[in-house]
Amino acid sequence: MNAHRVDMLPRNDDTCGWANLLPPRPRPVRRVAGAMGFDWAIVGAGYAGLAAARRIAELAPGDTIAVIDAGRAGEGAAGRNSGFAVEISPSPRKKIGSPEAAYRKSIRINAHGLGLLRQAIDAHGIDCDWHQAGKHQAAAEPRHFARLDAFARHLDALGLPYRRLEAEELCARLGTSHYRRALLTAGTVLVQPAALARGLAMTLPDGVTLLEESPVESWSAGPPIRLSCPGGTVSAKRLLLATNAWLPRFGAFRNGLVSFTLTAGLTRSLTDAEHRAIGAPEPWGVISIHRFGATVRYTADRRILVRNSLEYWPRMAMTPAETAARLPGIEASFRARFPGLREVGFEHLWSGVIAASRNFSAGFGTIAPGVFAAGGCNAGGIARNTALGALLADHALDNRSDLLEAVRGLPPPAWVPPRPFLDIGAALDLRRRRRGLGAEF
Ligand SMILES: Cc1cc2nc3c(=O)[nH]c(=O)nc-3n(C[C@H](O)[C@H](O)[C@H](O)COP(=O)(O)OP(=O)(O)OC[C@H]3O[C@@H](n4cnc5c(N)ncnc54)[C@H](O)[C@@H]3O)c2cc1C
Repeated sequence: MNAHRVDMLPRNDDTCGWANLLPPRPRPVRRVAGAMGFDWAIVGAGYAGLAAARRIAELAPGDTIAVIDAGRAGEGAAGRNSGFAVEISPSPRKKIGSPEAAYRKSIRINAHGLGLLRQAIDAHGIDCDWHQAGKHQAAAEPRHFARLDAFARHLDALGLPYRRLEAEELCARLGTSHYRRALLTAGTVLVQPAALARGLAMTLPDGVTLLEESPVESWSAGPPIRLSCPGGTVSAKRLLLATNAWLPRFGAFRNGLVSFTLTAGLTRSLTDAEHRAIGAPEPWGVISIHRFGATVRYTADRRILVRNSLEYWPRMAMTPAETAARLPGIEASFRARFPGLREVGFEHLWSGVIAASRNFSAGFGTIAPGVFAAGGCNAGGIARNTALGALLADHALDNRSDLLEAVRGLPPPAWVPPRPFLDIGAALDLRRRRRGLGAEF
């Protein structure tokens, strides 16, 4: 079988603020070296890959499993995100089937992922600021209230509880008068994502070998399946691809998953006086009801996170200069929300890559004999891709369940044209969707 060359690799620029705030790792990095052999190879040590490894170890004890990542576990998108492990998001228009049916499915998938994460952090005492603070889905301008109303109607139809918060109460809770209205749903958990992802990677079960800083440069279908890395090769009976934005680089869901690059910044910790000046709030998280609006968090260590860009970026990784060029936009969002915190600046700035599909469906299933793939997170993969990773293991082992059937029944990611048509279409589409962003930015 011919080798499939992986034509673009992730690059760790060591800028991830969440990762840089962590204490030194408890274990050194182990790389792919020489000729290695396992029953299972999993590529990607993010939420999907780590959950898949745990599940295979549970279902097939005694099998040997390698989890291979181009970087260090917890320093890819899994550690670079805004840390909302969401239970429910507003339904985008192009959802699959009726909105309520799509909601029900996605809530079940997210709940499964949240449950698995909770199990792992409880079992291993993973310290990741896990806090069920809920999610404020907010509008900064009345012209976006209609979007909140539509979300509320879906929540009502599903019988899901929420609280509607108006400007005054929001200001008291958040310490900013920027937002005019929000729906608070209680199930979302806020986490320090790099602490969570690293914690999951450092507590993998017996039989799982973590191999980091080992980019897979090519793979070929078996038997045996072979992966080639700079330091050596890995052969395996079965292969799980859990590389999310890089799945198309492995040949999976090539005409369905599109990568986007997001940039986030994290301030220094507020002083006691600054914390009091904004009303000494508890940690909170806000996601704009406008898909391209800012995501903002107040963290347990009193930092403010702002993530306000989502860009079609075919080269995937940004250079340091490209990331730095996003800082003025992040600062503008911050100053608009906290004009009184003039002395507070951003200590960390980073970008990360995700995969999305036009119909918001995930890629999931068998892509070649013995080769399985799952991914496509639409920027909400902490809970969702944890679930998809674990379910991919069930799928590979033919361990049936209702939830697996529900995921197998998802339509594939909707077709997108190849480049350069995709570049043109994405640029036009994003420009149109960003219109009217105003104070949501
Ligand atoms: C700035 C930002 C904010 C976000 N905010 C949120 C949020 O608040 N909530 C939420 O749920 N989601 C959020 N996301 C998305 C979330 O991070 C992803 O959904 C999640 O990380 C996907 O998990 P995964 O395991 O499928 O993929 P990833 O976490 O992307 O893991 C894939 C891994 O594959 C590895 N890999 C790729 N190619 C190769 C190769 N050739 N060889 C070896 N390894 C390879 C990568 O290094 C990576 O570690 C955000 C993302 C970003 C960037």
